Amino acid sequence: MSLSFRPKGAGNRSAALFLLPLAGGVAGVGATLLAMRLFSAPVPPVAPAATLPPAAPTAPTAPAAPAAATAPATPVRPVASKPKPASGLPQVVGTVPIPARFQGQVFSDKLRSQHDKDVAPTFDDGPWEPTTPQVLEILKQNDIKATFFVIGKFVETFPGMLQDVVNDGHVIASHSWSHPYKVNGQAQILKEIDGTANIVKQVSGFEVNLFRPPGGKLKTGLADYAMKRGYALIRWTVVSGDDVRGTTPDKMVKNVLSQVKPGAVVLLHDGGGKRPTVEALPKIIEGLRKMGYRFVTVPELLEMQKA
Ligand SMILES: [Zn+2]
Repeated sequence: MSLSFRPKGAGNRSAALFLLPLAGGVAGVGATLLAMRLFSAPVPPVAPAATLPPAAPTAPTAPAAPAAATAPATPVRPVASKPKPASGLPQVVGTVPIPARFQGQVFSDKLRSQHDKDVAPTFDDGPWEPTTPQVLEILKQNDIKATFFVIGKFVETFPGMLQDVVNDGHVIASHSWSHPYKVNGQAQILKEIDGTANIVKQVSGFEVNLFRPPGGKLKTGLADYAMKRGYALIRWTVVSGDDVRGTTPDKMVKNVLSQVKPGAVVLLHDGGGKRPTVEALPKIIEGLRKMGYRFVTVPELLEMQKA
């Protein structure tokens, strides 16, 4: 839901992504055990983000992650080189294989049905400057991993920020190439979905497998194509309101704390223009923690969801 999204910022702004360290193969493990594993044990060796090769031009029609709706989860593919995660930070994950039963499916409120007090903060519309680095800093200070739904053209413009997101251990997901609310034809669909997957792969070495349609819209053709490609479509269950004109930081905090429920997916924005997100985020984190919430990534929520 990016009502005030402003594409004009492509040239001078970028956003951030949040990713969570996620241990693979945890299906069937209790949420508590999973959380303990995630936050107290080293994550299994997964692909670190690379010191990227220079971003090459994206080929809009190039094949993207070929996961079919019934195919097993696509393994994470490491990048060639392995930069060492910054000291004290969890090992980089970038993207995490998602359970096959979630591929090609749409998730929204169903995500929260059977959870403990887990909440997944998600950040859309980045990378964006200066807000993505600001959000990353707040997350780092609070030892939180999040999920970043990125815009392909901003990744192309600010590849270093995407790398920062990955290096901080957050999860990267797709939010289309240009954030369109209307799509004209198959060529644009390929650019929006496959083009974004390609640029993320080039810059980070990871293949995205989660997609959030711009505005949450499911009828533009992007959602259908992404599902055919095996993406899990992730909407949200809590709207922070940071993309609504006139929303204050206090209002954002109130919106989140009053709507949150176990298993919630919170819609926030690290990109898209001047928003109250950076100012509100520390208070949102503090409030959720006081309520007993634990922060997870979207792939973690999927893993914890019972079949
Ligand atoms: Zn958006």
